[in-house]
Amino acid sequence: MLRAGRLHPLPQDSVLGIPTRLRPLAKTRLLTAAGKARVALDLLLPGGASAGRHDESIASFFERRFGREAVDYIAEPLLAGIHAGNVDRLSMQALFPRLVEAERTHGSVIRALAAGGPGGRTPDGPFRSLPGGVGELTDALCAALPARALRTGAGVRELRGPAPYRLRLAGGTSVTARQVVLAVPAQTAAELLRPLDPELASICGAVPHTSSATVTLGYPRDAIRHDLRGTGFVVPRVERGLSVMAGTWVSSKWPDRAPHGQALLRGFVGGARDAAALDRTDAELVDSVHRDLARLLDIRRRPALARVYRWPRLNPQYEVGHLERLAAIDARLDRLPGIHLIGAGFRGVGIPDCITRGRAAGAAASRAVQSAAP
Ligand SMILES: Cc1cc2nc3c(=O)[nH]c(=O)nc-3n(C[C@H](O)[C@H](O)[C@H](O)COP(=O)(O)OP(=O)(O)OC[C@H]3O[C@@H](n4cnc5c(N)ncnc54)[C@H](O)[C@@H]3O)c2cc1C
Repeated sequence: MLRAGRLHPLPQDSVLGIPTRLRPLAKTRLLTAAGKARVALDLLLPGGASAGRHDESIASFFERRFGREAVDYIAEPLLAGIHAGNVDRLSMQALFPRLVEAERTHGSVIRALAAGGPGGRTPDGPFRSLPGGVGELTDALCAALPARALRTGAGVRELRGPAPYRLRLAGGTSVTARQVVLAVPAQTAAELLRPLDPELASICGAVPHTSSATVTLGYPRDAIRHDLRGTGFVVPRVERGLSVMAGTWVSSKWPDRAPHGQALLRGFVGGARDAAALDRTDAELVDSVHRDLARLLDIRRRPALARVYRWPRLNPQYEVGHLERLAAIDARLDRLPGIHLIGAGFRGVGIPDCITRGRAAGAAASRAVQSAAP
């Protein structure tokens, strides 16, 4: 994590950046002495302040438990940062319910994490990847499906009901289906659902999103002075003067992603803190990310390889009130038998959650088809 222009490791044994032991907290350079004392106060503060509160922002929760410095140097760059979101708006209940539970059950969040209670380490974080790239996932799915069960490059243009539903595809063909699993971005779900239920469409369309871009840069390893140990860094928004909000040492995390002697790095730009990032040209994005990485990692050459990937409005934001939105969606879906709504816009922004929801929707659709069979 960046503080005062330098990268510092997170305190040892921290969970989501929250120190679970006092010694690493005392030693870290990420917080001032006053900031550390305020974090440790979590051990003494009464718990239960979240009881009775319906929901609160990540910033509100962290400020109550750990103080303002922990909002700026833990919650904002780490918890809001992975969602490319605004720490003052994202929902604690929707995104980190286990920390809320930790406060409720143990009084102190730190004590709960140290005891391995709610919010403690889990083998699977919210985000996962695959050694050969995420394309392995779709390749495996294609290989497992029976021939003719799959149509690719056939975007759904229109969905008409009541059941059985008629899906008009790009190219003019159509499909009739009793069960439809919508695994598309929230905005697309809103467009497809509008003819069936305009109110449901408006609720789906109101899920806020931010935009981001990743800039992947390759360098000869010996052009980088930094040891690239670990997996990357995050930049708190209070640290001014950089365009990147985070960086990954891709070739440290996944050694096969770069040829021997080369290093692959990735910078993340945009999100809630830089909404205009995608207005910049590829060349501008490459220049700014290279400049930031060169300064932080002591890089002496221009990148030998550069790729820019843009993600316009593709970072869903579960803001305070998101759970009420989900309840309203569920209530309206009850009136549309056979329509299943999944995808990152609703219940889980990472691949593991999307897979869990996909399996559940697939099983529910299959049960419904079987129970309707003559
Ligand atoms: C920059 C970035 C980095 C990320 N890194 C990670 C990570 O390291 N690990 C992790 O777990 N998660 C990561 N995520 C999150 C992850 O990408 C999402 O959780 C996941 O892709 C969401 O899956 P999904 O099926 O909901 O949506 P998507 O993956 O967006 O898939 C939606 C699909 O719907 C299709 N579609 C759209 N419209 C139509 C239509 N009309 N008809 C038919 N099909 C349509 C699209 O072509 C697309 O294939 C990252 C996200 C971003 C933006």
